[in-house]
Amino acid sequence: MSDRIRVRFAPSPTGEPHLGNMRTALFNWCFARSTGGVFILRIEDTDRKRLIPGAVEAMENALRWLGLDWDEGPDVGGPHAPYVQSERLELYREAAERLVAEGKAYRCSCSEERLEKLREAQAARGVEPRYDRHCRDLNIGPDVPHVIRFKMPLEGRTEVHDRLRGNISFENHTLDDFVLLKSDGFPTYHLANVVDDHEMGVTHVMRGDEWLPSTPRHVQLYRAFGWEPPIWIHLPLITDKRGRKLKKRDPSLRVSTYIEKGYLPEGVFNYLAFLGWHPGTTEEIMAPDEIVERFSLDGLSKGPAAFDPDRLNWFNRQHMARLDVDELAERAL
Ligand code: GLU
Ligand code: ZN
Repeated sequence: MSDRIRVRFAPSPTGEPHLGNMRTALFNWCFARSTGGVFILRIEDTDRKRLIPGAVEAMENALRWLGLDWDEGPDVGGPHAPYVQSERLELYREAAERLVAEGKAYRCSCSEERLEKLREAQAARGVEPRYDRHCRDLNIGPDVPHVIRFKMPLEGRTEVHDRLRGNISFENHTLDDFVLLKSDGFPTYHLANVVDDHEMGVTHVMRGDEWLPSTPRHVQLYRAFGWEPPIWIHLPLITDKRGRKLKKRDPSLRVSTYIEKGYLPEGVFNYLAFLGWHPGTTEEIMAPDEIVERFSLDGLSKGPAAFDPDRLNWFNRQHMARLDVDELAERAL
């Protein structure tokens, strides 16, 4: 593999693009552009029940509006088509079958009713719902309806080395035998995400920290496949001004709100870049290329960043003031 940095933005088309996922995309893009690396767009559409029509187009529009162009694709569906997981099912199926053949995963034929009863019984006892590994040693063959589950180590701990947060340790017995391949033949997020990051040569996984609890599972998957894991970077949460978790569906977070209201993309870009990153100077108003020039992972902050609409407006105004009259007039029109 080359020494080039390879990063990806991997949205699921399950809702409207919001400032939170745009910030993740933006940091990945800035990292790629500042190092001469590659920025990949990958649509993670394997959760068929949660798909929203038009969400992929909306995501692409939001990225284009901010100027976050992507470099690679599968070379089908046009030169700028992103990778789409539902077009790569064979890859995930083969990977899951390989783990079964190697005794690192197994087929589980538990019915939905059995799993439901299990969950109810666990809830009644006040314990966390978790698959009881019923099929782990049953050697179930491919002829009955089944899912494929990962054999989690029963003891020990899994360490996650995060570039931003240091080492985080998870007790293996708290991680269940999660599903890799569903009964409809679609992979779960965990399997598809890991297989693709490996296949695409991703060197750094930079994503929101809501994915941190999934990472020990991913670490175990890399180990089972014998692949080298990427460098993990979990970006701190975006909160409201009072430190509370933001609601993704809030209209003031939708990118479309800002596109429709006529905000300058470079103003929104600038604001988002400063939401969890700092260039180490007092200067604040910067064009995207100036941000790229200064961008480094060392400037990422560990603490949560608060979303402040007034500050976003301020950034937008500063960028408006930077435009000359003709250009301002043209863009206003
Ligand atoms: N599909 C996941 C999402 O919607 C990707 C998480 C990741 O970057 O691994 O955010
Ligand atoms: Zn089972």
